[in-house]
Amino acid sequence: MADVTVNEAYDGLGATFAFYAAVLGRDSIDDEGMSLLATVHYGDHYDNAFWNGRQMVFGDGDGELFHRFTVSLDIIGHELTHGVTEDEAALMYVNQSGALNESVSDVFGSLVKQYARGETAEQADWLIGDELLTDAVQGVALRSLKAPGTAYDDPVLGDDIQPAHMDGYVRTTSDNGGVHINSGIPNRAFYLAASALGGHAWDRAGRIWYESLRAPQVRPNATFRSFAAVTVRQAGVLFGAEERQAVSEAWREVGVAG
Ligand SMILES: [Zn+2]
Repeated sequence: MADVTVNEAYDGLGATFAFYAAVLGRDSIDDEGMSLLATVHYGDHYDNAFWNGRQMVFGDGDGELFHRFTVSLDIIGHELTHGVTEDEAALMYVNQSGALNESVSDVFGSLVKQYARGETAEQADWLIGDELLTDAVQGVALRSLKAPGTAYDDPVLGDDIQPAHMDGYVRTTSDNGGVHINSGIPNRAFYLAASALGGHAWDRAGRIWYESLRAPQVRPNATFRSFAAVTVRQAGVLFGAEERQAVSEAWREVGVAG
């Protein structure tokens, strides 16, 4: 008997694996060919999905606000990318390094989806989890890389409070220092860089972010500013002046000096 959740999880893991292999030349999460495993129907109406360090775990959602968590390919790409980040830069999951960790997952989660759909930066929706929200929710997705802070405004879920610029940086002790909040700032920087460069976002912007994540200069306690500087440098090393300029401009537009 077909279980739609099993099929979605299988296809989503496969699409993420294919993206990393074909676009970035990476052999699975650890770049050493580790098998991708997933548990589905975790818990009872569990409202989340996560990478536990060894495998993916998907909840079915409560059915009122959230559908099953296998339904959005960008969510699957997001969670698996946490494994890639852990393996490469090991960005500490707190404050700015934690927000970078979240942002890197949103960036590659979105790119996995864009690659699977064959979309250009202009055609992409730049949303995370748009299929996940039920019709009862007043919103379009969990997050927007293009317009952070606009994804939802719901009586139960609350308001999307992601800032799109350093002026709105949220200092808080909740959410590990706002890792899911302030990620809006580097998310928008990526969107701006990818849009300025045009074409398929994974070709240049994605490659620049990926090689930055792998660069030894990015430490576990990286700040927005230190990460930005590495992306600007990588843009010049990997491509040239146009790319370096686009990435530098993108960070400046969100208030981070690259
Ligand atoms: Zn995450």
